[in-house]
Amino acid sequence: MSTLIDIGKLVGKPQPATVLVPEKEKGVGCDFDSYLLVPDSSLDARITAAKARLGSDVVILGHHYQRDEVVKFADFRGDSLQLSQQAANSSAKYIVFCGVHFMAESADVVRQPHQQVILPDLSAGCSMADMADIGQVETCWAELASLGDLRVVPVTYMNSTAAIKAFTGEHGGAVVTSSNAAKVMEWSFQRGERVLFLPDEHLGRNTAFQMGIPLDRMVVWDPHLEMGGNTPEALRNARVILWKGYCSVHQRFLPEHIEKVRKENPGMKVIVHPECRFEVVQAADVVGSTDRILRTISAAEPGSAWAVGTEIHLVNRLAKMFPDRTVISLDPHVCVCTTMFRITPHHLLWVLENLGEGRVVNRIAVDDKTRGWAKVALDRMLSLK
Ligand code: SF4
Repeated sequence: MSTLIDIGKLVGKPQPATVLVPEKEKGVGCDFDSYLLVPDSSLDARITAAKARLGSDVVILGHHYQRDEVVKFADFRGDSLQLSQQAANSSAKYIVFCGVHFMAESADVVRQPHQQVILPDLSAGCSMADMADIGQVETCWAELASLGDLRVVPVTYMNSTAAIKAFTGEHGGAVVTSSNAAKVMEWSFQRGERVLFLPDEHLGRNTAFQMGIPLDRMVVWDPHLEMGGNTPEALRNARVILWKGYCSVHQRFLPEHIEKVRKENPGMKVIVHPECRFEVVQAADVVGSTDRILRTISAAEPGSAWAVGTEIHLVNRLAKMFPDRTVISLDPHVCVCTTMFRITPHHLLWVLENLGEGRVVNRIAVDDKTRGWAKVALDRMLSLK
């Protein structure tokens, strides 16, 4: 038995997009507003036709958290790194990323020279990535340096802007994913004494604790306070400096949800993403990336029951894929990535039909210097076996 939650017509707050859109590519005469008038009944047929006309020139990427009406047109579904790599390995000229802004930037970092990346709605940002501004991170780095040589290695989660990835690359650090964070942190501790973990406080804490680092050797850096709100002694004592950032979706899951689910559903297992709070991760039965959540539930016994702590579109999809298992959201309220949800079939149609007319709208283009250093940080991670 499966339980689905209808997410209805939820919309999120627009996120500021740090996109480079050359004037000539804004496509005067191809404005999006006119596409709002396209009736729902003709959307699927027009998207299918526009995609078919572009053929192998276009590849559509759909993140696991993307809504069904959009993700059904994706050539590849997955997480952001995997999708970026799949697009770069394709022959497509145009990469349409149905995800959020940092994901499109990542695709632009790893793309081939002849490829261009498009984000169907520029307001599809990521609240977590937006919590680490490059100016704030540079200030943090300078304040840490003022304490003497603390031998800090910066590492950043994939869910960060290209500017933060580039900062990490330029300062001897690397990118991490939710699957390999411990491996990259081990690598970092071979190069320094401390790690500055950006921008997700929870993934950093959960990973470091799993590696055996006690909580009292971790501090949180609040970018709005001097020295991040820490004393010099606390920073010198710390092994991990956690940037005060979080995912607005995963932070919603609470230990009370786990208690309630277990009380109401004896035998139900709880599986959560490591972007969840420490207390939630500690109480869960299984912790893992979207890929691990997928693999775990697909390998589970028919008749098994799962409460899943991640974005609702993936939870609902898993419930549909495995009707002989019970799959529910850990939080009875809808946990939706409201910014990714901003990408509608209308946006997808708009970008595809413009591409068909030779117009590139909503291109995401990371400048060469940023691309170069971000690639260094990514390659350091990828070189770790
Ligand atoms: S689910 Fe969270 S981390 Fe992922 S894109 Fe949405 S806000 Fe960002």
